[in-house]
Amino acid sequence: MKPGFREKLLMGFFGLLLVQGLVIFLWFSHAMKASVLDEIKNRGVSTGTSLAVGLVEPMLAMDYLRMKVLMDETTRLGNDIFYTFVLDPDQNILAHTFNSGFPVELKRVNPLNGAGPSSLKLLDTGRQMVYDYAIPITVNNDFLGTLRLGLSQTRAEKVVNQVLVSTIIIILLAIFLAGLVGTLLVNPLIRSVKKLHDSSEQALKGNLDVHTAPTLDRNCWDIMACNREECPAYKNYHHRCWYLAGTLCPTCVEGEYAKKIQSCQHCRVYRKCSGDEIQSLAESFDAMTLSLRGNLSDLKAAEKILNEQKARLQTILDAIPDFISLQDQDGRYVSVNKAFCQILGKPRNEIIGRFNQDLFPPDAAALYNEEDRRILSTGTPLEKENQIKGPNGIKWLHVVKISVSQKTDRPKGLVCSGRDISMLKAVQDQLTHAQKMESVGSLAAGVAHEINTPLGIILGYGQLLLEDVNSEGQVYKDVEVIVKQTKICSKIVKDLLSFSRSNKSVVTDFDVHGALEEVIAVVEHTFSLNHVSIHRGFHGAPLSMKGDKEKIKQVFINLLNNAFDAIDTHGKIYVTTGSVKSGREIRISFIDTGCGIKKDNLVKIFEPFYTTKGPDKGTGLGLSVTFGIIKEHRGRIKAYSPPKTDKTLARGTQFVVFLPTDSN
Ligand code: SF4
Repeated sequence: MKPGFREKLLMGFFGLLLVQGLVIFLWFSHAMKASVLDEIKNRGVSTGTSLAVGLVEPMLAMDYLRMKVLMDETTRLGNDIFYTFVLDPDQNILAHTFNSGFPVELKRVNPLNGAGPSSLKLLDTGRQMVYDYAIPITVNNDFLGTLRLGLSQTRAEKVVNQVLVSTIIIILLAIFLAGLVGTLLVNPLIRSVKKLHDSSEQALKGNLDVHTAPTLDRNCWDIMACNREECPAYKNYHHRCWYLAGTLCPTCVEGEYAKKIQSCQHCRVYRKCSGDEIQSLAESFDAMTLSLRGNLSDLKAAEKILNEQKARLQTILDAIPDFISLQDQDGRYVSVNKAFCQILGKPRNEIIGRFNQDLFPPDAAALYNEEDRRILSTGTPLEKENQIKGPNGIKWLHVVKISVSQKTDRPKGLVCSGRDISMLKAVQDQLTHAQKMESVGSLAAGVAHEINTPLGIILGYGQLLLEDVNSEGQVYKDVEVIVKQTKICSKIVKDLLSFSRSNKSVVTDFDVHGALEEVIAVVEHTFSLNHVSIHRGFHGAPLSMKGDKEKIKQVFINLLNNAFDAIDTHGKIYVTTGSVKSGREIRISFIDTGCGIKKDNLVKIFEPFYTTKGPDKGTGLGLSVTFGIIKEHRGRIKAYSPPKTDKTLARGTQFVVFLPTDSN
């Protein structure tokens, strides 16, 4: 386990004391050893010198006994004197203090060499180290002999070591006491730091209601004898008044901590309550969490407002039928409305964060990316009509794209707005088609009028010829062909005039159901021979309208014949009626179970002479004439294949005719 702050602090503290103690001990032991050895050396010289002076007289008197007594006395008094002996100038032993015989080799190891008043040598006896002093014994510059004195160094070191052991014990004791005092002093600091640590952890977990600073014995309201309950510091035990804005002491200055603290330092509340750096740290931490709590609640309130505004904006955007999208400068979709999601057939969360290439086919995505890049680089808006293939089929869109600029040089993104103009396009197509039909109608009417008269003459002469020639002959048969073909031409001309509405109309009030029944009665038997049945689904009440009944019947018969031709044999035709637009329009539907019409052909079926039937099966004017009659009655006709109102039929065609009850 890693040591904590307390352990580290104590380890550092004790380590420092130990190093200090060690340094002191080494320095002290070295100094003391040197000083003790110097002392021993000096003592040896002084003891030897005074003994040498004392030996002069017995040596002159050759009194060996006194010499011996003097030397024994000196050795006895100095407990570290190992030996003494005296040599005459010829190096003969005159007296010595050795009990077990004099070691002869000792005479030669430290001779006087005349370099100084004495000679000193450290000897190793094998058991201990000995300082050997050689001191001359002289009188009036006459050399009487040499005094040799041995002082034990080992004994001296023993004394030194005893002193050092005592020193170590004293130092360790001092370290222990210092450590004890240090621990007592460090503990409050550790507690404060731990409290700070715990508080900061709480704050990190989101609890900003922490109280780290110590509770004071006396607070500002006690010290100032204050009863101002409205003051934010009043009875606030956790926060110091100099951290709180809006306090009410006359000496308090307005503003936040930075402004207040200058003046607070002169206040007696501050002087009494402010503590050391750790207390200040704890107090400022409490003030910081208090301020954070305030800022956080402001931030939450702002976030709530922002979210509400965002939701409101999204609701507004979703209510707009046009699609709207916002992309960032990298082309990533960051916001889209409901209409955009519907066009793509994807939920919002599958669009946000995606790019064009994730949402559109590769060709379209490449085109849109190129457009986006151009708008972002030039800032020029783009407006165009776009055809897209969505889940609900092909749609035409009017699209506007603009860059979103900010104060910076680079645009921040793109706003794209698009409107579904598929209906408009369809109406445009219908209008163009209607105009084309109008033109064709006029042309047809003109041609028909011109042809009608010569055709009438040809037919008249042909019929006259038939009366004049033999009915059995070849000429009769040829003229008969001429008459027949002229009648066909005449029928075409009549159809063309009907289509162009050049025929006079006879307007009456009539019942649509009655007109339908009359037409069905004519064809029903023929159809049934080919196993084609007609099923009625008429509105409950009679549906009367004002118009040319015969022309309307022609419409019905054309549509029934077309249905029959589409079935050929074995099938059904459903004829239904209804009232729409609050009774202002009549709806008549013809559904067959036939072969149906290809999608591409549906738009052309009302054009004159357009037919999908084989040769000799029709002129292609039937539906054109139908279209012309309905148009003349200010009505509409629509074709669906397969039928729109009967989803059970996979094939077949439905024609729906809308006729106003009053075509005027
Ligand atoms: S800071 Fe407020 S509560 Fe404290 S003594 Fe001043 S007025 Fe009273």
